Amino acid sequence: MSGTVHIIGAGVAGLAAALKLSARGEHVVVHEATAFAGGRCRSYHDASVGMVIDNGNHLLLSGNRAALEFLRDIGAGDRLIGPQAAEFPFVDLATRQHWTLRFNDGRVPWWIFDPARRVPGTRPLDYLALARLVWPPRGKTVGEVIACDGQLYARLVEPLLLAALNIAPPQGSAKLAAAVIRETLAAGGRACRPLIARDGLSATLIEPALATLRRRGAVVRLEHQLHALRFGAGRIEALDFGGEAIVLAPNDAVIAAVPPYAAASLIRGLDVPTEFRAIVNAHFRIEPPAGQPPILGMLNGTVEWLFAFPGRLSVTISAGDRLLDRPREELAKTIWTEVAAVTGLPDALPPWQIVRERRATFAATPAQDAKRPGAETAWRNLALAGDWTNTGLPATIEGAIRSGNRAAELIARRDQQ
Ligand SMILES: Cc1cc2nc3c(=O)[nH]c(=O)nc-3n(C[C@H](O)[C@H](O)[C@H](O)COP(=O)(O)OP(=O)(O)OC[C@H]3O[C@@H](n4cnc5c(N)ncnc54)[C@H](O)[C@@H]3O)c2cc1C
Repeated sequence: MSGTVHIIGAGVAGLAAALKLSARGEHVVVHEATAFAGGRCRSYHDASVGMVIDNGNHLLLSGNRAALEFLRDIGAGDRLIGPQAAEFPFVDLATRQHWTLRFNDGRVPWWIFDPARRVPGTRPLDYLALARLVWPPRGKTVGEVIACDGQLYARLVEPLLLAALNIAPPQGSAKLAAAVIRETLAAGGRACRPLIARDGLSATLIEPALATLRRRGAVVRLEHQLHALRFGAGRIEALDFGGEAIVLAPNDAVIAAVPPYAAASLIRGLDVPTEFRAIVNAHFRIEPPAGQPPILGMLNGTVEWLFAFPGRLSVTISAGDRLLDRPREELAKTIWTEVAAVTGLPDALPPWQIVRERRATFAATPAQDAKRPGAETAWRNLALAGDWTNTGLPATIEGAIRSGNRAAELIARRDQQ
């Protein structure tokens, strides 16, 4: 037995690290500041709509290999649902045109040669421009690498990158966009099937993870906020939880899986991303009409994606900073007007809730991306995890889980030395 690993933060990054280490028989204690696990990826009972909803709709793709492995590990491999093929229905609110993007399974993109599968109004040659985004020059924005105009941009590149990077694509890091494109579009339809947690994020990802951890003997302490780390010569000597201090034994280790601003306040001199982008979600308690697809892309309006769940329609708006100061009721009405128009549901506003996550993700610009530290620190028993660490991916569940896995590996490797 090699000591205890203290994991600070029970978001998906912290839980991923805890799962990897506990699977190896390591003793793990997870310390979470709030009363719930899941961090930015969680469900809660909302009084306005009278049901359990997620803080935000989360879309995964079948190519998110670390996320799918995480789900298998916690026995929840079947809890994400999605179509059998990589299909994305869209509606353009300006023209009322509907279409469905249908990627073929393999790596060779036959779909771009089929007008019934590709983006309407585009030609196969248009897609060549995207090749420049697959291996872009260093430090560039998307807008510096491809022209951000035309039908292909408006109807495919912009919705894809806005959702994945959570920033207006022209300002987004071309390197991060490239990572997304390499792992999705360029990997073929098999990697692009959309997957959603129909029964909620907590029931799908978080509760089964906590149950698995407890079965493996890990301890999860909620409402246990770390106030400070005590630094010694090359190692962390103690954890200060306010009223309680935990002195670390020589083999004990720490993984800080907290958001960047929390990490910067705990660890002196740590360079972290400092700019963020919001995500706005609207939830409406109403039965979706028959035939409503689980996910619908909406263009030329306020709404970007419409998700259908049993008894509820939910909307996602990325890089939603412009909407943070809009009066809530006015915003709910604007959004519902668009949803009613595409679903044929009555104009009367159903019970609703708006959730605005101000710091949903770090701003995926080249400058902010350059501030992301790796998992390793100057203290041999301290590793970092979190979607904002240098995963090579934008801030996503997949990136968060990979960061947790990597921090766990680092700590486990240290044990073997
Ligand atoms: C509205 C919204 C929509 C999103 N949509 C998608 C999507 O569609 N697809 C996708 O892949 N990703 C999406 N994301 C991003 C995804 O949710 C995050 O990338 C992921 O949840 C980050 O996990 P994390 O563990 O790195 O960080 P967090 O979830 O932030 O976890 C950090 C944890 O540390 C805790 N903590 C902080 N300080 C302390 C302390 N001092 N002591 C103890 N605990 C502490 C926090 O309470 C928190 O629980 C979305 C995010 C939001 C907000």
